[in-house]
Amino acid sequence: MTPIPPTRRGACPAFLAPMETGDGLILRLVPSDGRLSPAQLRGLADAARRFGNGMMEVTARGSLQVRGLAPETVGPLQVAVAALGITPRIGLAVDVSPLGGLDPSEVSDGHPLAAAILAGAEHLAGQLGPKVSVVVEGGGVSLAGQKADVRLVATGPGQWALTVGNGPARVLPEAEAAAEALAALSAIAALGRAARATDLPGCDGRARLAEVGPPLGLMPLADGTLAFGFGLPFGAGDAGQFAAIADAAEAAGARDLRPAPERTLIATGLSEGAADTFAARLAALGCVTAPGDPRASIAACAGAPACASAHVPARALGPVLAEAFAPLLDGTVSLHLSACTKGCAHPAPATLAFVGMDGGVALVHDGPASGAARPVRPEADFPAAVASLAATLAARRAPGETTRALLARLDPVGLWAGAAMNRTDDVTSRAE
Ligand code: SF4
Repeated sequence: MTPIPPTRRGACPAFLAPMETGDGLILRLVPSDGRLSPAQLRGLADAARRFGNGMMEVTARGSLQVRGLAPETVGPLQVAVAALGITPRIGLAVDVSPLGGLDPSEVSDGHPLAAAILAGAEHLAGQLGPKVSVVVEGGGVSLAGQKADVRLVATGPGQWALTVGNGPARVLPEAEAAAEALAALSAIAALGRAARATDLPGCDGRARLAEVGPPLGLMPLADGTLAFGFGLPFGAGDAGQFAAIADAAEAAGARDLRPAPERTLIATGLSEGAADTFAARLAALGCVTAPGDPRASIAACAGAPACASAHVPARALGPVLAEAFAPLLDGTVSLHLSACTKGCAHPAPATLAFVGMDGGVALVHDGPASGAARPVRPEADFPAAVASLAATLAARRAPGETTRALLARLDPVGLWAGAAMNRTDDVTSRAE
């Protein structure tokens, strides 16, 4: 099957309008209050098993996705979600730091500002495109890796730096920041449903997304309890794994589970002893619980066959990449496996992005997946190619040198390209 070019898609797998992809319809769910009880997560997993193909995901933006629905099972799943008492976010996406109001390291709780923007933007329903989004970052768990049309970052109590599109930042008091954010959203809506903030005058500068690591492990909360951040391998698992996580959270006395950036969930309200037991249960379930896990440094989209735009089975190749690069993952680099140039799993530039195109895999250094260009390594060569690249890099690393510095000194794309150009030799030597 020829993959569907990502640029033709233009739709988001939202709650009311699931999107058709390789393994059926995909439905995205963001709880409007940003949290699920363990019982709600268990119920959602059961619904995913009954009405979808049982696969669930947490996205880079911290949304939950249920895969493999049929047109006739979308309605029953939506009914099941309502019966669980989950209120999905409908309309404008306004993302707030997941521990806002609970995080002792935050600068300002973003929830009041987010609520003001949501209320003020109600009249724009239907006028803004489905991808228009607002990010309100109060500090603590970072949202700096997420794309946003309107971004507000706390610079002090009640003070926010407002950025529209890729324009310059302006620091404003909270009420003024809300009014200016709403003015920007109105201006985007006035340009039509296809418009984004970068279409506004003066807002089309260079994108400035940051590389952000996933929030993993223990985090103290302002109420004296603990939070614990974790992820499923590459953000995906089957309904049984999600149900087992819900059981473990309930047994640990967790108050709720919060979908969070970089494909993670954060359990809150844990005591110290319960957090240790919970972490051990998660590790036994194969979850990523610490930044030192090589999988924590790698983002991978679903890829083939689940996504209709995919050129390669990105998620299935993830463990291969993790094993090859494990000795080089020192916390200074991020890796991205994207099955096409859209780069869903990691919109920000990655240190190395392995990108499916033309039936193979191209390499980008310090850039987004959209920067991929030939030459590509054939998919069948991927395990040997990444092993060879990692071995070459490791052999040339100077004592004490970080992997980021090593990559800046060498030319990983050139090494990859050289491998591609030498492929005939490889094939010849294998035949011999
Ligand atoms: S990046 Fe991956 S999940 Fe996104 S459209 Fe491309 S193949 Fe599909």
